Amino acid sequence: MSRLLEGKNALVLGVANKWSLAYAIAEAFHREGARLFLTYQGERQKATVEELAAALQARIFGCDVTSDEDIARLGAELNAAAGCLDAVVHSIAFANREDLARPFVETSRAGFLLAHDVSAYSLVALARMAAPLMRSGGSITTLTYLGSIRVVSNYNVMGVAKASLEAAVRYLAADLGPRGIRVNAISAGPIKTASARAVPGFSTMLEVMPQRAPLRRNVDPAEVADVAVFLASELSRGVTGNVVFADAGFHILGL
Ligand code: NAP
Repeated sequence: MSRLLEGKNALVLGVANKWSLAYAIAEAFHREGARLFLTYQGERQKATVEELAAALQARIFGCDVTSDEDIARLGAELNAAAGCLDAVVHSIAFANREDLARPFVETSRAGFLLAHDVSAYSLVALARMAAPLMRSGGSITTLTYLGSIRVVSNYNVMGVAKASLEAAVRYLAADLGPRGIRVNAISAGPIKTASARAVPGFSTMLEVMPQRAPLRRNVDPAEVADVAVFLASELSRGVTGNVVFADAGFHILGL
């Protein structure tokens, strides 16, 4: 059977360790034949990402998404290394811990701006960098969470940043659609990762899913990764501007 991403060049941002959703996505892209480019944020993470990348025959580049210089350098490095891009996965978010631990109304200006800069604006900046490299069209996918459209305890400023991210998906899809570039988000159910553990009460989210979600279980990273494969592949060629839920159906629930 032919592989879904055979011959495609894919950039995956957000691998910090083997638990990262970005790593599960990179593994699935590798399985489906993609040529992979991964990023790491700083020297502290470089060795870990280097090791994980080696198993996937991926090249790695440094990129702090709050830096326009880093994003421009990444674009130049990708152009030199690959010449063109077919898929980008943005699996990046950050908020100050204190903004997740106190009432939302207490969010500071600096904390609000930081969460939005890293978690939402970065998608816009990366799309601008990647679009010229997507010479035959392409697919850009980001990761979001239900806290964008529902109030989830302690998700706070991150929920507001995810609402901004999802709106950015729609505006980018409209801007880049005429160039054959599709932009979508995956709204994943709770999965134990370093970022998730920063949300106080995260384990309660994991406990509630098997009791209430229509599928009566949590989702695992591989299930999220398979949706990312779909969105990067030709199977989703008519899909753009969407938020696809990979959350065992939890988002449909009312009372
Ligand atoms: P993760 O492994 O901690 O991934 C978050 C990534 O963001 C890390 O690689 C982190 O790098 C990176 N990052 C933060 N600030 C950055 C910056 N300035 N520049 C470049 N990279 C930066 O956690 P994850 O759960 O896989 O999160 C990935 C995405 O999935 C996030 O958007 C998250 O909101 C979303 N999501 C997660 C869940 C869940 O339950 N896990 C559910 C729905 C959606 P460093 O570690 O090096 O800082």
